Amino acid sequence: MTVTKKISLVVPFYNEGGGVHSFARSIAAILAAIHGYDFEIICIDDGSKDTTLQELMQVRSLDPRFTVLELSRNFGKEAAMTAGIDYADGDAVIPIDADLQDPPELIKTMIAHWEQGAEVVLAKRVDRSSDSYLKRKTAALFYRFHNTLSGVKIPENVGDFRLMDRVVVKALRQLPERQRFMKGLFAWVGFKTVTVEYKREAREIGITKFSGWKLWNFALEGITSFSTTPLKIMTYVGAMGTLVTACYALYIVIRTLVHGVDVPGYASLLVAILFTGSLQLVGIGILGEYIGRIYMESKQRPVYVVRKRYADGDDSGGQLRYSDNE
Ligand code: UDP
Ligand code: MG
Repeated sequence: MTVTKKISLVVPFYNEGGGVHSFARSIAAILAAIHGYDFEIICIDDGSKDTTLQELMQVRSLDPRFTVLELSRNFGKEAAMTAGIDYADGDAVIPIDADLQDPPELIKTMIAHWEQGAEVVLAKRVDRSSDSYLKRKTAALFYRFHNTLSGVKIPENVGDFRLMDRVVVKALRQLPERQRFMKGLFAWVGFKTVTVEYKREAREIGITKFSGWKLWNFALEGITSFSTTPLKIMTYVGAMGTLVTACYALYIVIRTLVHGVDVPGYASLLVAILFTGSLQLVGIGILGEYIGRIYMESKQRPVYVVRKRYADGDDSGGQLRYSDNE
């Protein structure tokens, strides 16, 4: 007798009220067309302030394959995903966004690649026209910058939507860091990887939870988590500055010896002072970014706190009503 393989979907929800049911309906319809697997859909309520949790509970009462993990507050998408991945016990795990921007249709293709031996199946966005011009450009810039600086290359235009074999998930769980830049961690563990492509659709319901400032901090997190190059750059910039200053000093000494003392304006002096001053501030700032992270890591706080988990088979229901009704 062969044991049916289990696939876990990990879905973070933050203020997605109004979109929960359409997500569940789409997923159920897609999964109904994939035969021979058990599915669990781990929905993480990342401290939503709207009706997300109630809607998730309704969905769960209709279809117990949906399990709900309620976090005690908003911990952010990375933490929510970490929670879901920690609780997933499938043979393969697929993180997917709740807003249907990651097309669930791709799940079938991903599974097929996995069955052929891939340990990671990446979903790459070939068309991001649904994202704003600014977001596309800054994203491209981020990937370029990150991958130049860091030894761990993040595949470009690949989000968190991917399939991971159980071995990959096991490796991920062993990474102890508290600040979890998942894209980087996913890339860090490696494994045999296959890429499938898709077109990124616009958000179905609701608005994006990532403002420009949040994205900027996210990018900073990514770079500082996976590269110490900025620290090294400061050393070289400092060394260059010292060299230039030394040459300039020598020049002044010689000039004074040859031409005698004159009193030039203070403009050049002021520029030099301001320049080195701000350079030092930038350097200290970069140091601060790293030290701040060391500080946060050293506290050893958990990445997330679960208020309640709704998963055991003691809920009523049991029919796959979503897929049946549609
Ligand atoms: N999300 C989350 N916690 C947060 C912010 C977002 O769990 O603090 C979830 C959100 O509900 C969605 C996914 O992360 O399922 C992606 O968020 P969003 O669609 O806002 O990001 P975008 O697609 O704009 O990058
Ligand atoms: Mg989205």
